[in-house]
Amino acid sequence: MSQDTYSTDAPECPYCGYKQSHDGGYLYDEDLTEIDCGSCDRTFNVEVYVSTSWTCRPRHGA
Ligand SMILES: [Zn+2]
Repeated sequence: MSQDTYSTDAPECPYCGYKQSHDGGYLYDEDLTEIDCGSCDRTFNVEVYVSTSWTCRPRHGA
């Protein structure tokens, strides 16, 4: 099997399906383009999508 994968919790190896561990947070760097699979050791391309949201509230006493 080698096909594109999509996941919201961790990058998933397109070769073996292994979900990469994301200790250290480097998998959230939008400049990241390649990952070496932690299971089968093959290198695959990755596109990182970062979604950001904000919650705003009034300041006390304003
Ligand atoms: Zn793999």
